[in-house]
Amino acid sequence: MLDDQRLLAVLDRVHDVTEQLFLIEMDTEYARAPRELCASICQWHRANGFLDDDRRSRRRHVSAPGSPARHFVLQVNPEREKRHGGAGHPTPLRPWVHGGCFLCAPNIVDQQRGRELGWPLATEGARHLVYPSPFPLTDNHCIAVSPSHTPQGWDVGGAPRLVRDIVRLAEAMPGTIVAWNGPASGATLPCHRHFHVLARPTSGDRMYPLERATPAPKNGSVVVPGYPVAIAVARGRPDEVLAAMTPLVTRWAEAGEWATGNLMATVAPEQTQKSAPARGSEPEVVLYFVPRHATDQPESAHAIAALELLGEIVIQTEADRTRLASGGYTPEHIEETLAAAQSPACRMYLATKPTNGPR
Ligand SMILES: [Zn+2]
Repeated sequence: MLDDQRLLAVLDRVHDVTEQLFLIEMDTEYARAPRELCASICQWHRANGFLDDDRRSRRRHVSAPGSPARHFVLQVNPEREKRHGGAGHPTPLRPWVHGGCFLCAPNIVDQQRGRELGWPLATEGARHLVYPSPFPLTDNHCIAVSPSHTPQGWDVGGAPRLVRDIVRLAEAMPGTIVAWNGPASGATLPCHRHFHVLARPTSGDRMYPLERATPAPKNGSVVVPGYPVAIAVARGRPDEVLAAMTPLVTRWAEAGEWATGNLMATVAPEQTQKSAPARGSEPEVVLYFVPRHATDQPESAHAIAALELLGEIVIQTEADRTRLASGGYTPEHIEETLAAAQSPACRMYLATKPTNGPR
């Protein structure tokens, strides 16, 4: 019989060999994500039992009468709250690193006993491991994780690197929305740099409420009008978006230790449908930036993450469900909840610091 250490050594090798087989089977190279990357990763993990096929959340739509623009989505997902306890085996076979961090690769092999596989994805100047989320928010929800135990904030490597990484990840995974939640802005694990890779809604125009509310700026930035949260948005070729948004995000990041926020990046939605760009051609991307203040916000606002800012509210706690049962999620209530996640200083920043493009 194997002792724990030898069992772990086997699981490490199984992980490495499986990864190689997976890469070969997908007929791809390290540096290039296959189309439908997240779907393939999740398909694999449903087949090996890591993901539970039956664990589906329920969605419902909430609109203000006569105001189709004020439209939000409620997602009832009580499983999501369990993420704080992790999805893995609670008993270590070997000492865990970094306090048992759920995103450190050696811990994942131990905690999941080799069942969870991270896809190595290289983009310009960065490498991530893409894992399935055991507590999914969307179909094929994955998490792109830094290989090293690096904090989630933009203080490490600076805002320019963060903005570059999210835009390049979005470019590599068309059909998804890549999201970064800063500390005190929805990040559950602020100790380890990670991005959520969310699928688009499967019905209708496949757009989130924020996307519908966004005008179509070209090669520059605007502030989304009429949305309960002040959000800067840029759309264009990836390099144009980086040039337009990096200075704006960087100035905010350097404003103080309290400066935090959310970023969401995606290939322009219509380009992932009928007129998808040919492989190898440069797509148009859209980048959203939501400045947030870590301390000047109610405690409850810490739970407001990128998906909520996209207009989809996740009902997860007992308190959330009680509020839902008592009719507490009208469009007005949702707008108030979202607005509370942003202090006046954040709104002022976007109102007074014009971005590089047309307004
Ligand atoms: Zn870690």
